[in-house]
Order: sequence, then C-alpha cells, then structure tokens
Amino acid sequence: MADRRNHLIALDKRYVWHPYTPMQDYLRGGDPLVIERAEGSRLFDADGKSYVDGNASWWTALLGHNHPRLVRALREQAERLCHTSLAGVTHEPAARFAEAIAERCPAGLHHVFFTDNGSTAVESAVKLCAQYWQQNGRPRRTRFLSLEGAFHGETLGATALGGVEAFRRPFAALTMPVTHLPSPAQDLDRALTALSTVLAEGADEIAALVVEPLVQGAGGMRIYDAEYLRGARALTAQHDVLLVADEVFTGYGRTGTFWACERAGITPDVLCSAKGLSGGLLPFAVTVTTDRIFEGFLGGPERAFYYGHTFCGNPLGAAVSREVLAVYDDERVLDGLPERAERIRRTFEELASLGGVADARSLGMVGALDLAGESGYLERGGWEVYERARARGAYLRPLGNVVYVVPPLNIPLEDLDELLAILSDSVREVAG
Ligand SMILES: *Cc1c(COP(=O)(O)O)cnc(C)c1O
Repeated sequence: MADRRNHLIALDKRYVWHPYTPMQDYLRGGDPLVIERAEGSRLFDADGKSYVDGNASWWTALLGHNHPRLVRALREQAERLCHTSLAGVTHEPAARFAEAIAERCPAGLHHVFFTDNGSTAVESAVKLCAQYWQQNGRPRRTRFLSLEGAFHGETLGATALGGVEAFRRPFAALTMPVTHLPSPAQDLDRALTALSTVLAEGADEIAALVVEPLVQGAGGMRIYDAEYLRGARALTAQHDVLLVADEVFTGYGRTGTFWACERAGITPDVLCSAKGLSGGLLPFAVTVTTDRIFEGFLGGPERAFYYGHTFCGNPLGAAVSREVLAVYDDERVLDGLPERAERIRRTFEELASLGGVADARSLGMVGALDLAGESGYLERGGWEVYERARARGAYLRPLGNVVYVVPPLNIPLEDLDELLAILSDSVREVAG
C-alpha cells in the first residue's frame, strides 16, 4: 500500500503541475492526499482512510460522489454514444437536457448554449452580449461591469471580469477593460449607488453587468443581500443594459433555492451554470438566454454566433446532467436543505465569537469564516486549519484565510455533524 502510494506521489511531483498551487511549496511540502475512490460525502485515500468532503470536490459533487443513478446514466450513455459534435447534428441527451434545464430556469430563459466548464459558460456570455449589441443597433456598448471580489473563471474574458487582484494582476496587460464596482458584500447602499452612477453616466457604452448572485465564491465566500440583485435588475432594465447571472457556484440549491436569483425574484438576461450541473461527474456547462438575445442573432449568416467548443453538448455530460435533475426531483434534494443549513448556520455563529475569527457567515449550504489578520488568497492561515482537519478526517481546502464548508447538498446528517465538529475543533486550535 505505502509503496504504491509513495510511487504515485513521486510521479505526481515529477510530472503534474497543480492548479492554484505554489509548486515550490508543494514539491517541498508533505504528501498530498492520494484519493483512490469516493462514495457519498466521503473521499477514501490510498491507505483506506476516509475524509468528509467539505467542499464537494471544488463545489461539484452536489449529490455526493458516485451516486448510483448518475453512474448508471453515464454507463448506459457510454455504451450508446460517447461523443458527436453539435455541428449540424443533434442527439437525444442534448435535446432532452436542454428542455429540462430551460424548464428549471427563471421564466423567459430558454435558449441553451452548451460549453464544457464554468469559464467558457461565462466567456460565451460575454461574447453573446458583445455581439448582440454590435449587430442590434448599439455598437458602442462594449464595456462590461462586474464586482470587486468577483470570480468568473480563467479565460481572458472571465479573468478580466474577475475582481480578485491576485488572479488578475499577471494578465492585466492582456485583458479587456472592465469596470469593477464596489461589492454589496461590503456595503449594500454604496454598491447600489455606485452602480446607479456608472449607469447614469455611461450606459451607452455598457454591454452588461456580470454578477455571482448572493455569494461571491472564490473571492472568499462573501455573502450579500438579495436587495442588491433586485436593485441591479431594476437599474440595468432602466438603462437597457444586460444582466448576466453567473450561477456556476450558486446554482442547483447551494444557497437554499434552486437558483440564487430566485431568492431575489429576478430573471437575468443570461444565466451561466456549470460545476454541480453534471453532479460533478463531467465537465459540462450551459449559458441560457432570453428570446430577445437569441433573436438578435437571427438573419443572415454574418449575424450568427461563431463560437463553439469541440466537446460542447457532449452526450455523456448531457445524459448525466439530465439524470441529476431527475434525482433532485425524485429525492427531493431541496427539501433536505433547511435542516442541514441550520446546522451549518449554528456552527459558524458559534465560531464567530472566537478571538481569532474576524467574521463568520452562512447562507443555505455555505458556511464561511475569516481568520483574523490579513485577508487575501495568498494568506496561509486557512492552511493550518486544513492540516488539522485532514488529520481528523475532513477535506477543508481554504481560500487564503477564509475557511469554509460547501458540502454535498444531500450529505447525511451524521456526516455533516462530523464535518462541522472537525471544522470547529480545527478552527478552535488555530484561532481559539
Ligand atoms: C468555478 C467558477 C467559474 C469557473 O468554472 P470552471 O469550470 O472552473 O472553469 C466561473 N464562475 C464561478 C462563479 C465559479 O465559481
């Protein structure tokens, strides 16, 4: 066992370049987790030790790992058709999943553009909005608005929208100009006033406002009031600026309702979804738009959207994603959220009183706290909690000094209690 594990680690350290990882520290540091298999809310390592997956494997495994129905849907689809393009072709998984997701979206959103990850779902939203104005009478509308502390992915358009300085800085010379507005997670009134001012002064040159509704995820699990979304929807509508909701993290029940936009009762012009959309099994994503935007691309061939990823609409991803929605219905996943959310809320409320905790908050199936001290992705405090939690049997990858849980939505209550106990004990050791 140990030999095999050590061999894998040696290969990894020689060949694998890890995402979001200072590789010098990684190479010199201790052993990474070597995960062999996963089931439900648990990951199992090469020594057979289990870890409660506190972040649902980068926010994707919303129904837990290896849900039998999802694995079966994947296997059955793989036996029939693994891949064909959507270039002048269609297939049952894409057509049926498009119907299913359109029916789930806020009313009015029902044209489904497929991509294969969250970044490209956002990138296609940016290009859709830009081209829409280009060919529908307002070619000067080329500027995008987003929020300070936002995260929208890795492609250059998505990077430009991002409001986390550490991620954007190396590419500053390459990215399109974006106006980063004050975030409502800091000050709701100031954020609404700033948006109102920017729109009043420059709406003629603004294509769209892009937001993560209710929770700014990778920027530090910063939660804000639904009032901002209502205000932003009213203001953008008043100035005829498009509103893009990036629900890549917040969608599929994470905040308590199926879409975070539902909590505010708003319909964006464009909605992006990925991550948990496929239950965390496959890279799969959608960008869903209104009739207005779709119709803005009708007419001659020069008006078409010349954009599409090789694997867009992949049959495996579509079949699994459709089964995800069926499981949400059949297992009444959303009905199980309040009880779990309440346990998360209580735990973070208790931790808020610790001397070494600067702030703690929760919303739905998200709980987060800031360790006292500097903020920012490069801070290491959260990693001390990570190490302690790992030794106790939980996977709690932090965002700098932000320690958080975003477990599978259907996590068994006893696993959730175990996760929260490990979190509390580990945070108390570091920040008590
Ligand atoms: C993770 C994330 C993305 C990027 O998704 P990838 O699949 O990693 O490309 C975009 N937007 C939000 C809000 C995210 O959380």
